[in-house]
Amino acid sequence: MSRTLYDLIGLAAGVAFILALKGLSHPKTARRGNLIGAFGATLATLVVFFYVSPELSLPLNNLGWILGAMAVGLAVGVPAARKVQMTQMPQLVALFNGVGGGAAALVAIVECLHLGAKASMAEVIFTVFTVSVGCISFSGSIITFMKLQELMTTRPVIFPAGRFIIAATLVSVIGVGAIIVALGTTPLLVLAALSLLFGVLFVLPVGGADVPIVISLLNAFTGLAVAASGYVLDSVLLIIAGTLVGASGTILTRLMAEAMGRSLFGTLFGAFTAKPQDVSGAAEERPVRSGSPDDVAILLNYARRVVIVPGFGLAVAQAQHTVRELADLMISKGIDVAYGIHPVAGRMPGHMNVLLAEANVPYDQLEEMDEINPTFSQTDVAIVIGANDVINPAAENRPGCPIYGMPILQVSNAANVIFLKRSMRPGFAGIENELLYDPKTMLLFGDAKASLTKVVSALKAL
Ligand code: NDP
Repeated sequence: MSRTLYDLIGLAAGVAFILALKGLSHPKTARRGNLIGAFGATLATLVVFFYVSPELSLPLNNLGWILGAMAVGLAVGVPAARKVQMTQMPQLVALFNGVGGGAAALVAIVECLHLGAKASMAEVIFTVFTVSVGCISFSGSIITFMKLQELMTTRPVIFPAGRFIIAATLVSVIGVGAIIVALGTTPLLVLAALSLLFGVLFVLPVGGADVPIVISLLNAFTGLAVAASGYVLDSVLLIIAGTLVGASGTILTRLMAEAMGRSLFGTLFGAFTAKPQDVSGAAEERPVRSGSPDDVAILLNYARRVVIVPGFGLAVAQAQHTVRELADLMISKGIDVAYGIHPVAGRMPGHMNVLLAEANVPYDQLEEMDEINPTFSQTDVAIVIGANDVINPAAENRPGCPIYGMPILQVSNAANVIFLKRSMRPGFAGIENELLYDPKTMLLFGDAKASLTKVVSALKAL
């Protein structure tokens, strides 16, 4: 295959990636967007096997190793992606993202060692960038994975003199990078080790509300590392794909930081200034008002407007179809029903939208935070299904707590609040929620799906 044909096919794959992103921007076209992206990725992978560069006699050396590695990747990746629960998707994304960053770093190291003294200054600079950013993305993503999988605490990990150690590690990464550019490629592995360490130290102090922002930031890092490796490998396709991931990851990071009232600078450099946070508030022994499915059905039956606030627990219970059944039933009784969607409800950006789309909830019933908040004061019942942090008033009135400053869905302005949850345990950020003890709040304990099923039966009977 000629270089021109190879580049044209690469361009076609790049166009497929752009169309995929366009498709992914709306729930109706997201599935098609995903398929177009997968087609582009397959094309980009296959074309490599047919292009013979002028220096080589075969398209690829070490074909056996390459096919073996692909077989291992497929054997691990395909079942993992098929079996993963929707609620574990962010962990999977974090892992895949980390592996991408690590792969870019490894490829750049191998290519740079292969080029040796022939490597141009620009190639060495791009290698240094790929290795450091790729390694930071790899180790940072692994820590994010462990936090999301609850293999370690989800709270910020702050250690004595942490900010100095983190700053010293970053300075060492930059220093070793500068030495490599000035003197040659010898300490590349030292750079990799320091960058891996920095990735761990950078993510450890992040907790609570900032985790989604960091996932998206690391995703952007991987994209940039891949784009830079494209320069070292002379691959236009890698440059296009990496830049798209880097740019979209950066836009998503900015949007999420904005939606959560965080400055991007604060999130990026929060690790340097992190102070111990007020994470007090393990569930206290205080009286709460709990109710039965019949009590909930009666409240709903006499309401004129009900806002449903879904959260992570809805995804855990897989109650999206039952919640739609409840909403349809209320609508058939003439009740005005809307869903209040918080940008970081659940465990990944857009989690609630995807979940509710699965149950064919009409898109026009979903209202974003800014739209729905002013309407809570005219709402008779806010029914909170498996959400906690995204409605926790501590974000507004408890300075120093991990979610302080994050905009929330102001359900406390509704006349009545119903919580569907299993226990008094807190949410992801691990902090107490005063609203659970408010006299206007009623708790319906149990798995969200089982509780909703009972409420639907009780409401039908009224
Ligand atoms: P939370 O994690 O704050 O709360 C979830 C609630 O669901 C808990 O109160 C839990 O209580 C309840 N729950 C769990 N399982 C069930 C079940 N089967 N039936 C009924 N209730 C259940 O979720 P939110 O959606 O309110 O907030 C999301 C949090 O996750 C935020 O802190 C956000 O920063 C973070 N995050 C978000 C990401 C994103 O991109 N969206 C990514 C990473 C983190 P109980 O155990 O008592 O049932």
